[in-house]
Amino acid sequence: MSGELILIIEDEANIIQLDRLYLEREGFAVESAADGQAGLQAVDRLRPALVVLDVMLPVMDGLAVCQSLRAAQNPVPIILATARDEEVDRILGLELGADDYVTKPYNPRELVARGQAVLRRARPSGEDSQALGAALQCGDLSLNPERREVYVGNELVPLRTQEFAVLQVLMAHPGIVFDRERLLKLAWGFDFYGQTRTVDMHIAQLRKKLTGSRVKIETVPGVGYKLVS
Ligand code: CA
Repeated sequence: MSGELILIIEDEANIIQLDRLYLEREGFAVESAADGQAGLQAVDRLRPALVVLDVMLPVMDGLAVCQSLRAAQNPVPIILATARDEEVDRILGLELGADDYVTKPYNPRELVARGQAVLRRARPSGEDSQALGAALQCGDLSLNPERREVYVGNELVPLRTQEFAVLQVLMAHPGIVFDRERLLKLAWGFDFYGQTRTVDMHIAQLRKKLTGSRVKIETVPGVGYKLVS
């Protein structure tokens, strides 16, 4: 899907420049905003396909921007850029509705891969129909790939795009143990060495959202995760 617009909300010009270089090379259009408030206005004005959102921003920080977009029911996919050791920001960011994150300093190629993964998952059904897969049922948990909906019993559970992707992999193979590298590969479409913490964070979010279900995501120590009902 070339030409899709990516909005980078970031106050460091050199990072914008580098991201822009790599994203444009992959056929994306790129716009930027240098503070949180300008970023929010740019989202309204430009309606980007994806937002890359720095956490540490002037005027209004990235977490507040994320919260504000979701409070306004804006579903635009968001990749959060967090500082190396700010795990709290990463957890909070996913809780506030970010779809994924990159840890600064990140390789721009990783941003491109994550952006492509999130966009691929966020695309409405039909455009990527062969990748959608079948409707899945596991215990009281059901997943409809065409409607991008997950239910516990009759209750709709709102999931972000990458949470949905992880659950879809696990539900397609209940009881099978997936290691983190394999989940990265299957749910994100790539396998960046050392990025498996991403999987743990999304599993933690999924567990919170699925507490009402009898189906559980079990940790297999030293190996990975599996779905049990
Ligand atoms: Ca910053």
